[in-house]
Amino acid sequence: MLKLKNIKKSYKTGDFVQHALKGVSLEFNNNEFVAILGPSGSGKTTLLNIIGGLDRYDSGDLIINNKSTKKFKATEWDAYRNNCIGFIFQSYNLISHISVLENVEMALTLSGYNRKDRKQKAMEALERVGLKQHAHKKPNQLSGGQMQRVAIARALVNDPEIILADEPTGALDSTTSLQIMNLIQEISKEKLVIMVTHNPDLAKTYANRIIEFKDGEIINDSNANEQKKSDNSEIHIKKTVLSYLSALHLSFNNIKTKKGRTFLTSFAAFIGIIGIALILALSNGFQVEIDRFEKDTLAQMPITISTQAVSMDEETIQEMIESNDQEKFIDDKVVKPIESAMHTMVHENVITQEYMEYIDKIDKSQLSGISYQLATALNIVTQNDDGSYQKVSTGSGVSDMWSVYPTKTSDEADMMENTYDVLAGTIDTSSPGLILEINSTNSIDQTILENLGFKTDEDITFEDILNKEYKVVTNNDYYQNIGDYFIPSTDYESLYNGSNSDTVKIEAIIRVKEDKESFANGSGVYYTEELVNQIIDKNKESDIVKAQENTDFNVMTGATFDEENTKDTILAYLGADSVPVAVYLYPQDFDAKDEITTYLDEYNEGKNEEDQILYTDVAAIMSSLSGSIMDAITIVLIAFSSISLIVSSIMIAIITYISVLERTKEIGILRALGARGKDITRVFNAETMIIGFCSGALGLIIAYLLTFPVNMIIENMFGLAGVAKLNPIHAILLLVISVSLTVLSGFIPAKMASKKDTVIALRTE
Ligand code: ADP
Ligand code: MG
Repeated sequence: MLKLKNIKKSYKTGDFVQHALKGVSLEFNNNEFVAILGPSGSGKTTLLNIIGGLDRYDSGDLIINNKSTKKFKATEWDAYRNNCIGFIFQSYNLISHISVLENVEMALTLSGYNRKDRKQKAMEALERVGLKQHAHKKPNQLSGGQMQRVAIARALVNDPEIILADEPTGALDSTTSLQIMNLIQEISKEKLVIMVTHNPDLAKTYANRIIEFKDGEIINDSNANEQKKSDNSEIHIKKTVLSYLSALHLSFNNIKTKKGRTFLTSFAAFIGIIGIALILALSNGFQVEIDRFEKDTLAQMPITISTQAVSMDEETIQEMIESNDQEKFIDDKVVKPIESAMHTMVHENVITQEYMEYIDKIDKSQLSGISYQLATALNIVTQNDDGSYQKVSTGSGVSDMWSVYPTKTSDEADMMENTYDVLAGTIDTSSPGLILEINSTNSIDQTILENLGFKTDEDITFEDILNKEYKVVTNNDYYQNIGDYFIPSTDYESLYNGSNSDTVKIEAIIRVKEDKESFANGSGVYYTEELVNQIIDKNKESDIVKAQENTDFNVMTGATFDEENTKDTILAYLGADSVPVAVYLYPQDFDAKDEITTYLDEYNEGKNEEDQILYTDVAAIMSSLSGSIMDAITIVLIAFSSISLIVSSIMIAIITYISVLERTKEIGILRALGARGKDITRVFNAETMIIGFCSGALGLIIAYLLTFPVNMIIENMFGLAGVAKLNPIHAILLLVISVSLTVLSGFIPAKMASKKDTVIALRTE
């Protein structure tokens, strides 16, 4: 069944060539017990290794069942070792971190038996060597003789045709040796046993054939001339494969024996994971907070259409860049006129009646409010606290022109109600009146207050404010016609007491709600829409308006019109029309805002630049800014944490490398049992996978636990609750990253392990 034809093997160490086998020809039969005798260094082990497929011969041929092995591939050798050969070594070569049973099972594990069959066969083999009751011990809990019996059980378990034993009793006392020899003799009744020994007595007592070796050559063969029986027994070579699960199990057991080190390695890796997980949790949470803030708050900031809008289209940006590119400190004796950057960016909006009609057709359900600012001057007079009279200015002073109090356009969400508290009085936009907004410190610019007729050397009570009366004077009463000109009256007392004047009051005092302070804290005066409508109704047909309509100069000053002071602006000032200078659209919510801006954009389609009307969306600018700042911070922080991940990857690579060195013997054993190079890689990949998974999982758990104190700190500092939230998708992603990074970092050591020379691996201690 087994034939060696002129096998030669030599080892090269430096320049020195050691001829371990110098042309060995042998033939073996079934059920032979062959003892190979010879002094140390004569090539016995080398022969055995070549027969067992652990080592390759240089020349000659090894014939198994009449089949040459010259063209055997690596995997065929692996399968051959696994199915056809059972090894028994002098030093037992058991894997120390798995149980006796699992050691015996290993050959079966490699040939893909299922768990149940594996266990049954292994127990049978252990029973045969008398160790059934020790199955669950670890090898180092056994005596030498017992360990060798385990090795015999392992050699037998896969029912191979050939048992190779290399000085199996070399490390045992004589009594134990005899027991082992008896066992091997027993086995030889059904198998070919080739045993190396340097004990001639043992060989003579037990073996039925003795081959003597010297200097790599046979010097005597007791059966040399015996007729070889023709032999038809087939050797079935079944490919081996170590399943991933078995590899994991093997590595898991190994890791269990080195808990401390594994923990430290995992620790290194999980610091990086914790860092990234926390950063993601925080930025995730902040983004949620920002989104919520945008939805709640920014969405309610109005889209503003006023006389000027900053346009940031590509063209203007390009122009700005070019203007920066000008040559500096030139010697030319000329002065260059340039347009200021601001000027190129600012777009002049001409709000027309047509545009107002377009605005009017806006889907009102998208709005929570709409407000205007009119160019119309209100002729309002009041009596001061000291009894004197004054005109209330609405178009100058510190504050902007007064705005129309936003009109509710939908019942769903009243932007003003959501944003402001009414501190005194009531708001009714359908009756003429004024509304005073004070800021969060209950203050208001004193110029405005003086303008409204209040003394500003002491605090003013709400009552005083609500009681103050204002008279709205018509154009006809206010402007006196002198020739072609109209001159505003300064006799405020008679205007105040005149019978044509309507009385209005400050109907309500409002202040921003505490939680909206950050975006809507202001002060100033609003007038109700009804007041505006009444004034425009009265003034539209007033003498001054009619006169102005028919004149080519300003009827109040006599000035001619130019680009800035057009007839239209004067007419608007006099209340000839209700086209506002600014429109404020308060979106219902975030989605509505998109709809509104889309609608506003549509107006500009196909229009010349000067006819286009651009809007300013402060909220969008703010949110895009906050979003990109968040992104930038997150990326920078993750980059820093990644460094620790990379460092830990390197550490894992080192640890895996050390593990490969440490487990060299195990690699040898596995290979001897028929494991393929691939299977060895698998064992180490499994190990790094376990480490990667543990450190990833541990890191995520710790990061999750850390979110609680982090949230507490943030809540104390910023008043935001539950900001840090670990997104499950991020967690899974990090786990995958952790596992793949560790597997990747252990890949090269794992590959190295698979390339290890089996014979050398087995020799290491
Ligand atoms: P034995 O088992 O009979 O004591 P070996 O087969 O182990 O002898 O070794 C035969 C010869 O080959 C010895 O001289 C040994 O030094 C040499 N040898 C064995 N393996 C190697 C190796 N891997 N590299 C170099 N020399 C080796
Ligand atoms: Mg030897």
